[in-house]
Amino acid sequence: MTTRSTELLRVVHRSPGVTRADAARLLGVGTGAATELVTKLSRAELLIQGPAAPSGARGRPTTVLLPHPDGPLVLAVAITHETWRVEAVQLGGTCAAEVEGRHAGAAWPQVRSAVRGAIGELRRQYGPRLRATGVSVPGTVSRDLRLDAVGAGWHDVDLTTLCPDTDVFVAGNDATLAATAESRRGAATDASVALHLRIESGLGGAVVEDGRPVIGARGAAGEFGHMPFGDPAVRCPCGARGCWGIAVDGQALARLLDEPAPLDSFSYARRVLASAARSAEPELSAVRTVAATLGRGIAGLVNGLDADLVTLGGLGADLLAAVPAEIGAAYRDGLMSIHRESPPPIVPAALGDHGPIAGAAEEAWSALLPRLA
Ligand SMILES: [Zn+2]
Repeated sequence: MTTRSTELLRVVHRSPGVTRADAARLLGVGTGAATELVTKLSRAELLIQGPAAPSGARGRPTTVLLPHPDGPLVLAVAITHETWRVEAVQLGGTCAAEVEGRHAGAAWPQVRSAVRGAIGELRRQYGPRLRATGVSVPGTVSRDLRLDAVGAGWHDVDLTTLCPDTDVFVAGNDATLAATAESRRGAATDASVALHLRIESGLGGAVVEDGRPVIGARGAAGEFGHMPFGDPAVRCPCGARGCWGIAVDGQALARLLDEPAPLDSFSYARRVLASAARSAEPELSAVRTVAATLGRGIAGLVNGLDADLVTLGGLGADLLAAVPAEIGAAYRDGLMSIHRESPPPIVPAALGDHGPIAGAAEEAWSALLPRLA
């Protein structure tokens, strides 16, 4: 397929419902050439043309470009420490169907068979329309698609066995994928250097510069949770002392509350936040302590990276909603004076808990688009 056809699909993927005239302008082609491309892609059942919603303006009716209702789909899979979810996603990012379940910290073979069962269910429904697979996982993913998720006890796992009969398979770390999604469709679309941080079981994230995440030489970049912004008296499962991630998550709240380490760190943290929202003590004090540690660390990263926007996902977004003043005060205190005049905003991730799976779908679509005939 020609580059221009791929480019047009990319435009419709980014902005489903774009007018044909705007798409032609974005591609830098004339009206005739655009019509020809659209006709070709409609025949290939990739796009359809529809009338635009009436704008009230006079003139010729406008034509908009939309994903074909029987067009290709990608499978997007998100596995967390507690749950899994599989979606069939259209061009343009709309979810056509989903299957989900809980695994509550199961061993990898059990999680894999649950996910494979869900993929099989969607395959029976959509058959050959499913053309690519993108997977989000809570750990580091090597360039040969092997997963290490220390917190979950999954080591050197071959991710391609999740979906052996797919031509196009991509996988990545959940926080990195959430960062990508946030830059393409979320709160960071206008940022030049966006820092995304996601707290779930531990803390991960990514720096996205001009829409591209920095993934590192071995695919392990973004492990900001293991920077020493935490308590030097506490040893992290990674082997280091003073890690930031274990000072801002459910484990940190449990330590502050003198409670045993929770198995479901994320759900536990949300329960503590709910108590803090009713001004219950000592929960509120624990939440404030964690929030200040979060704000101080974000300042350190903004100083180091010169990001112009920070998005928070997972528990980070919940903390920002619950105790914004504590995060903000510690953040401003930690910023260099050059940033303090107009501190880069800290905002909740627009895609919320959907970020990692949305990023998995985005990467699957990016890999598939050039291959569509
Ligand atoms: Zn660590």
